[in-house]
Amino acid sequence: MSGTMPELPEVETVRRELEPWLTGRTIVRARRASAPPGPKYARLERASGQRIVAVGRRGKFLVLPLDGGDDLVVHLGMTGVITSVRPASHVRAVLELDGEAPSVLYFQDPRRFGRFLTVPSGDYRSLPTLHHLGPEPLDPSFRPRAFHEALAHSRAPIKALLLGQRPVAGVGNIYADEALWRARIHPRVPAGELTRAQAAALLRAIRAVLARSIELQGTTFRDYRTVNGQPGAFVAELAAYGHEGDPCRRCRAPLRKIVVGGRGTCFCPGCQKGPR
Ligand SMILES: [Zn+2]
Repeated sequence: MSGTMPELPEVETVRRELEPWLTGRTIVRARRASAPPGPKYARLERASGQRIVAVGRRGKFLVLPLDGGDDLVVHLGMTGVITSVRPASHVRAVLELDGEAPSVLYFQDPRRFGRFLTVPSGDYRSLPTLHHLGPEPLDPSFRPRAFHEALAHSRAPIKALLLGQRPVAGVGNIYADEALWRARIHPRVPAGELTRAQAAALLRAIRAVLARSIELQGTTFRDYRTVNGQPGAFVAELAAYGHEGDPCRRCRAPLRKIVVGGRGTCFCPGCQKGPR
């Protein structure tokens, strides 16, 4: 699982851990540590003196509304970890909090793909992925018909379109492969060719894999904390991702690996219906 970015279930797992710790706390001081000035840590110091109203999530971003008119936005990148235990190295940002211990939050990010910044409340123009992010997959008000409409005019392969986060938020490489396998849809089918029934089946599958993975605290999250890379429990339930050459759990055909949207993609040539 190395080299796999945290996806929605992993970020939701982090959010749930942070919520009881951070909600209602005032940030006494926010500062960059060993990170050069730049857009990834923009306006971080502005969080100083503001109270954390809530710990939210949009797609793979943590979004913490502050009471002074800003949002603190965090993206874990490849290797970002939020911890109250002072890491030995690669600390990029630090929040000093009021109230009882633990009252210092460290953002550690060895590979530097993460972000930890503030933006004016709700203004995500400096974060294009967040700015253009599609609906939350687990929001019950997101209807299958709206999902079908979001796919309708695209000739991109369905998997590539999902990875772009616009038809629906938070589906990355692992869960795209799993959901397409469950819905029996070939990853290279042009998105606009999905029928309404197929789009509904795909949305159901996306919801099922994400909800189950959140229950099991994700697939890869534990890799980020332990040297030995003990994976999250969902890894045992993966039916497609990482199973190249293994027999399909449904039809026993050997799974194949191809490249779609620049990413390695596992699918079943036996039961995932191909492009016309
Ligand atoms: Zn199959």
